[in-house]
Amino acid sequence: MTQLELKGHLPSPIINAENEPFWKAAQEDRFILKFCKACSQYHYYPRTICPHCGSDNTEWKESSGDGHIYSYTVMRRGVEHPFAMAYITLSEGIKVLSHITDSDVDQLKIGQAVKLVFKPTQDGQKVALFKVVT
Ligand SMILES: [Zn+2]
Repeated sequence: MTQLELKGHLPSPIINAENEPFWKAAQEDRFILKFCKACSQYHYYPRTICPHCGSDNTEWKESSGDGHIYSYTVMRRGVEHPFAMAYITLSEGIKVLSHITDSDVDQLKIGQAVKLVFKPTQDGQKVALFKVVT
């Protein structure tokens, strides 16, 4: 068993005018997604212009934070602690690239249920990670 726990060493995100609401919400443990009112689809990462249809008629909606592992990889070589990057399919139907934390890296499986958890980066900005639902 190799317990994953990411903390402190995650690089901080670059915050700009387009993604500032996303990072402010993360500081409040809320994971918000962009939803396009023109084509009724979510997208990620957050953008002002919908990547599906090109509309700027988008709004923020809060995610349930529930999902499952679509795919993952575990990094073990050349790093101080093993870590797992994963594509998570959210219950909203879109995929998010993130990390798995607070979980047994040797027990990860495609299709496993995960839920959102926030962890601070180097400068204190929280980022959305996922942990296995047990
Ligand atoms: Zn759209």
